[in-house]
Amino acid sequence: MGHGVNRTVKIWIDGQLVPEDEAKVSVMDHGLLYGDGCFEGIRIYNGRIFKLGSHLRRMWDSAEEIRLQSPYSMEEVERAIRETVSANQLTDGYIRLVFTRGVGTLGLHPFLCPVPTVFVIADTIKLYPQELYESGMQIIVAERRRVPRECLDPQIKSLNYLNNILAKIEAIDAGVLEALMLNMEGWVSECTGDNVFVVKDGAVFTPPPDAGILNGITRQFLIDDLGPSLGLPIQEKLFRLEEVYQADELFLTGTAAEVIGVTRIGDRVIGDGTVGPITRRFVSEFRARVTSDAPED
Ligand code: PMP
Repeated sequence: MGHGVNRTVKIWIDGQLVPEDEAKVSVMDHGLLYGDGCFEGIRIYNGRIFKLGSHLRRMWDSAEEIRLQSPYSMEEVERAIRETVSANQLTDGYIRLVFTRGVGTLGLHPFLCPVPTVFVIADTIKLYPQELYESGMQIIVAERRRVPRECLDPQIKSLNYLNNILAKIEAIDAGVLEALMLNMEGWVSECTGDNVFVVKDGAVFTPPPDAGILNGITRQFLIDDLGPSLGLPIQEKLFRLEEVYQADELFLTGTAAEVIGVTRIGDRVIGDGTVGPITRRFVSEFRARVTSDAPED
C-alpha cells in the first residue's frame, strides 16, 4: 500500500520506522488474542496534529484504566508520532496510535506479557463519502445496546470494539453507514464511532459522559470552543430516542467523521430532511478552525 506513486508507507513500531510490510505483530500478542490494548485516532490538518496533547492524555488514561504501562514516555510517543508523520510526508491525514498488551502466553493473564507493543500508523482516511457531508447521512437505531460502563467503560478506547462493530453490521445490513446506540437504560449514548448532537429550537444538546460514551475529543472541542464562539452553547443532557426523532437537526462528530449532519433515522426524517443551518455553522466553523494557524492544542 502507498499514499501515491512509488511511496511506501512507513510504520513506527517498537522504536523503529519500518516499511509497512515489515511492520508485524506476533500471533501471540494479546492485542490480537484478546483485544487487550488501547488506541487513538488523530487527525493531521495543514501539517498540524490536531489536539495531540488531548489524544495523548486520553491514551494514557485508557492505558491506566487497563493497567497497561507504556514502555515509552508520553514525550517519546509524541516524538514517534511526529517522526511517522514526517517520514510519510503527510500534511493532511490520520494517525493511529496503538498499545497492545504485548506477546504473552495462551491465557488471559495480562501481566505475563512483559512488554507492550507500540505502533504508529500515519495514512489518509475517508470515513464517509464526501457527498454525505452535503446531503446529510442516513443512519439507523441499533438493536444492540452500548456496553454498560459497569462492564467495560466506553471511556476506555480499548482494542475491544466488537460492541460497536456488531452495531455497525446492523447499519450495513440496513444499507446505511452508522447506527445510533442506546445504553441499557434506554438513553441515547452515541454512534458506533461518533458522538451525537441534537438541535431543538435553536439549542444544542449532547449526552453527558455518564450516558456511557467515549468522551470524544471532537465533541469536547465543540463544547469548549466552537459552540461558545458561535454563540451556540452546548448543553450536556440525557435524552431519549423520541427527542432525537423530534429534533430540528441532528449531527455526529468524531476525529475521522469530523462534523456530519444526519437527515434520516430508519424511515424517519429529521427536521426538513436537509442538513440544517446550525449543523452547517458547526461544519464550516470546524473546517475553518482546524485548518487555521491556531495552536495544536
Ligand atoms: N465514540 C466512539 C465509540 C468512538 O470510537 C469515537 C472515535 N472514533 C468517538 C466517539 C469520537 O471521538 P473523537 O472525537 O475523540 O474521535
